[in-house]
Amino acid sequence: MIAELICVGTELLMGQVVNTNARFIAEKLAPLGITMYYQVVVGDNVGRLTQVVKTALARADILIFCGGLGPTDDDLTKETVAAAMDLPLVLRTDEWDKIVSYFTEKGREVSPNNKKQALFPPDALVLDNPFGTAPGCILEQDGKAAILLPGPPREMIPMFGAHVEPWLLARSDTRLYTREVRVFGMGEADVAQKLSSLIENQSNPTIAPYVKPGEVTLRLTAGCDSEDEGRALVEPVLAQIREILGDLVYSDTGRSLPETCHDLFLQAGKTLAVAESCTGGLLASAFVDIPGSSAYFIEGAVTYANEAKVKRLGVSRDTLDKYGAVSAECAREMAQGMRRTSGADIALATTGIAGPDGGTVDKPVGLVYVALATEENVTVQEWRLYGERARVRGLTVLYALDLLRRFFFS
Ligand code: ATP
Ligand code: MG
Repeated sequence: MIAELICVGTELLMGQVVNTNARFIAEKLAPLGITMYYQVVVGDNVGRLTQVVKTALARADILIFCGGLGPTDDDLTKETVAAAMDLPLVLRTDEWDKIVSYFTEKGREVSPNNKKQALFPPDALVLDNPFGTAPGCILEQDGKAAILLPGPPREMIPMFGAHVEPWLLARSDTRLYTREVRVFGMGEADVAQKLSSLIENQSNPTIAPYVKPGEVTLRLTAGCDSEDEGRALVEPVLAQIREILGDLVYSDTGRSLPETCHDLFLQAGKTLAVAESCTGGLLASAFVDIPGSSAYFIEGAVTYANEAKVKRLGVSRDTLDKYGAVSAECAREMAQGMRRTSGADIALATTGIAGPDGGTVDKPVGLVYVALATEENVTVQEWRLYGERARVRGLTVLYALDLLRRFFFS
């Protein structure tokens, strides 16, 4: 199957907007087993766009357009493509109702201009746009298809994933095999840099990095005829990634850090209790969020005040006086105290300064300690995190979980 990509917009031609949609769509097509021979950028001009459509219809099966679906007069992609394919436009009242309610919900007036966004050829497959007013659509005529997508990436990308990818997949002989590699402990830029030769030479599978606070996910997608073939294509690349990133990789099946720890507890048949200060229950919640955690999760205590650390966990007053509540010594005693009093095999503890206030030169906002106690041993780590309160608390949970999974892996 041969596709041609046609990006419409004078701003693209003039270089005012970088054509990131082209890159996104091109990357998506290869693993779907769809070949692209030409990409065209054309301005908002009926005559030239018509020319481009006619040329593309002669040399491709699927024409993918982006841009020019909006309500203004220079948005003319749908009208021009429909005319070039000899398809009439009629008002779809259901689509018109959706546009009206989109505006009403936002407390804005719908303009008569918007009406043209509800015009489609009678058999068109209309694609919902939850992030804007311009629906996309797929038009078919004489064995050729035209896929029309909005220009703004925040509208185009979700529409592509929700509607276009499945549509293309259903028509292609190819199947997709994907695996998600999860990495903790290194930023996206460094991960990308370490993997640069793999990423630059990628074709099948493709490697796409995604970022969440503190975590990087690499999605590997292979186009294949069967699951076995997909796995065979992906496994060697996974092995290369593991070799380069080592123990920064904690999962290659898309399991999150809490889920990975959950799996490890179930496998090991060990039990857990947590004592939290700055994370205030988030660490306990990370486990309790996962169904089945009752098999190993004994209890969690939020010991926020010094007095609570003393009474509930048996942290010594001397330690608090001498080192303070945010200290390696306190974290150690919290973990030990929790393990002893709960009877769990393993206890985790967190203490730190989440901010925005309470930081000093010696103990700045973002200074956190995580501790892991077993019967034989206690490990304490110090981290200096940055960011606002919620981020510091969230990251502290991830560092505690990372300490835990490393304990199991070792
Ligand atoms: P709207 O309803 O916002 O008018 P539209 O479908 O008509 O959407 P355009 O008017 O062509 O789309 O483009 C709107 C904006 O989307 C552009 O100003 C640009 O910021 C962005 N955009 C359009 N095409 C691309 C592209 N190929 N790559 C990246 N961004 C793009
Ligand atoms: Mg527009």
